[in-house]
Amino acid sequence: MKADKKIISILMNAENGKSITKDEAINLLKLPENSLESSILTSTANIVSRQKFSNHALLLGQIGVDMAPCDGDCAFCFFANSNALIKPSALDKQEIIDRCIQFVLGGAQGVFLMTMHRFGLDWFRDLCADLRNLIPNQFEILANVGDLSLSQLKELKDAGVTGAYHVSRLREGTDSCISPDSRKKTIEYILEAGLSWFNMCEPVGPEHTPEELAEQIWIGIDYPCVQHGVMQRFPVKGSPLYKYGQVSLSRLNQIIAVVALATQNKPNIKSIAVNAPSVAGLFSGANAFFPETGEPIHGDPENHPVKDKEGFTTALWRDNDEITTCDCRKMMVSAGFSHLMDFNGYSKLKLQSKSYSKEEII
Ligand code: SF4
Repeated sequence: MKADKKIISILMNAENGKSITKDEAINLLKLPENSLESSILTSTANIVSRQKFSNHALLLGQIGVDMAPCDGDCAFCFFANSNALIKPSALDKQEIIDRCIQFVLGGAQGVFLMTMHRFGLDWFRDLCADLRNLIPNQFEILANVGDLSLSQLKELKDAGVTGAYHVSRLREGTDSCISPDSRKKTIEYILEAGLSWFNMCEPVGPEHTPEELAEQIWIGIDYPCVQHGVMQRFPVKGSPLYKYGQVSLSRLNQIIAVVALATQNKPNIKSIAVNAPSVAGLFSGANAFFPETGEPIHGDPENHPVKDKEGFTTALWRDNDEITTCDCRKMMVSAGFSHLMDFNGYSKLKLQSKSYSKEEII
């Protein structure tokens, strides 16, 4: 078996510390996903990423706090106005607090509070302010909400929010009713407000071309994010993009590897996330997961069926049970990661599969 010399040269340069260019990224994304070169790509990213992050990993929880038919109307989404059959509802504050505490106990360093594209700003701001007073100080409150103005983001910051996830997604404006410019404007405001910006290449489907993927990945290179990563799209029955299905794990890993090699010299990037969490992703340059629920209550790992719960997480799109902090730590331990870190890259806890005691955590 012989590998393509041009590809090997790009990967050797990357392994020696040179970030790949956008053109090189496109060439790497054109590789057949199960080729020899693609395997060398993911292995190279694994080496580069482990060095960059000192073999440390990150857990950030997620809670969908408000749900309604959404006028973002994304062609892949469970909540899209034209497809959704749900009634508007918001999660009870005590339930959110309880879930945050479970995330804390599982070693997560923060939580993304997710809403629809349009949401009640005052309600969300007051919720964040209350949470800030009621959950441990070191646990970061992060927003994953719709487009906002600079002054609205400053309000959230004053309420205790320290970062925000916001993405100008693949085919934004074509597969959604939101313009890429308004998404990018909000990203600029997030940075101007002094919040940490979390980004990803998403929602990746089989139809996205290497050029489209590279273009979208580079938004997180041109603007300073603290986290880059890749999230695959899960097909929602009845949605316009259902027909395309989903990318394979090997394709997902190939894209993660490209992100890792393109961002290796960006000191602002403290972690590379993959969603859904997978051990294979951890061997392709990723070091961060978004658990969908915290430490299982009363030691019952089966006690987290998604269908009976209020609110939402990405488990809804996967149509599966929620992935716990315990599940994530087990994957990270099995992949040989040594510690959990905070989102600034500082070491926080030795990684272990078994649950932490309260004294170890708080
Ligand atoms: S992906 Fe977000 S913006 Fe789009 S329809 Fe779903 S909730 Fe709304």
